[in-house]
Amino acid sequence: MNSSGSISYCKPFSHIYIEERAAAFPACARILERYPDAARIPIRHYKDLFNRPRQDWAMQKQSPQLILAVKEGRLVYPGAPVCQSFGSQYFYYTSSVMNCLYDCEYCYLQGMYPSANLTVFVNLEDIFRETEQLLSRHPVYLSVSYDTDLLALEGLTGYLEQWCRFTAKHPSLTIEVRTKGANIAALRSLPSCDRVIFAWTLSPETVIRRFEHRTPSLAARLAAARAAKEAGFSLRLCFDPLILTADFQTEAEPFVRRVFQEISPDMVRDASIGVFRISGSYLNAMRKNRPDSAAVQYPYENDSGVCHYGKARSARMTELYRSLLARYLPREQIFLWEENRKEENGWKP
Ligand code: SF4
Repeated sequence: MNSSGSISYCKPFSHIYIEERAAAFPACARILERYPDAARIPIRHYKDLFNRPRQDWAMQKQSPQLILAVKEGRLVYPGAPVCQSFGSQYFYYTSSVMNCLYDCEYCYLQGMYPSANLTVFVNLEDIFRETEQLLSRHPVYLSVSYDTDLLALEGLTGYLEQWCRFTAKHPSLTIEVRTKGANIAALRSLPSCDRVIFAWTLSPETVIRRFEHRTPSLAARLAAARAAKEAGFSLRLCFDPLILTADFQTEAEPFVRRVFQEISPDMVRDASIGVFRISGSYLNAMRKNRPDSAAVQYPYENDSGVCHYGKARSARMTELYRSLLARYLPREQIFLWEENRKEENGWKP
């Protein structure tokens, strides 16, 4: 590591930084086994590394290193207002990993975190314990793959397998796994449970190629979505975030038609639609990291701290997708971000 914080000139995961307390956890040993050649560097606390000022985010993103740490404080949080709750009263989220192997230009993580290195929290059992405390009071709908993509990381962490087992044992728990992944082998090996909702973020192929770097193609995501349903999981399709491009209007219909050619509507539990929106403070940081990105540099309207394409344009984008999805799914299976916003009383980042 050099003084500028650029530990990313090496191969991805060539260096693994291990917090003192993390070393005792079985997940730490499991992950280290998968990288026998990586240099192992003990650290006092992950924040000493992850939160340092003036890190070279772009270099780290090209070649991320791995930090193994213990998560402290509150581990399961009430759902943020910018996230869709899908009508669940007891909506929570938790984050066992910070950062993602994929590289979407519009990703909020690059505005939220000072580092692009991947931090895996090895004390998943503590998150389970806190979830059980909530379950002792009421049912829980828990989003477990925010701030990362757990399916893409299953080979590294094995956390989805643990979440599926945990959910199967707790009848009043439903979890959502948001993903762009295509790891069909992992999906087929997971313990099946229909209270595990795999939620695929879908975009037209042109948007994937232009903005969602390193992510699987649309065809691969749809094949994985089918495999998840066939393996006994519930399936959600997320047309969120909708990204405005010159071809937005013309490619919407063929895109949605293709999705439902591959995925029969009766396989789908529900679908969500949401136009791109982001906290203004995250966007400021993202603009420094991505000076050439049209998705990031677009002149968004700032509406009380949340940046978006403008209310009228966002409404038109939503309505186009709502009308297209209504050809395949009944209204009660289509969740709109706009409706959610009304329910949750304002756009607060
Ligand atoms: S898949 Fe999601 S979490 Fe990962 S880089 Fe893309 S937007 Fe961010």
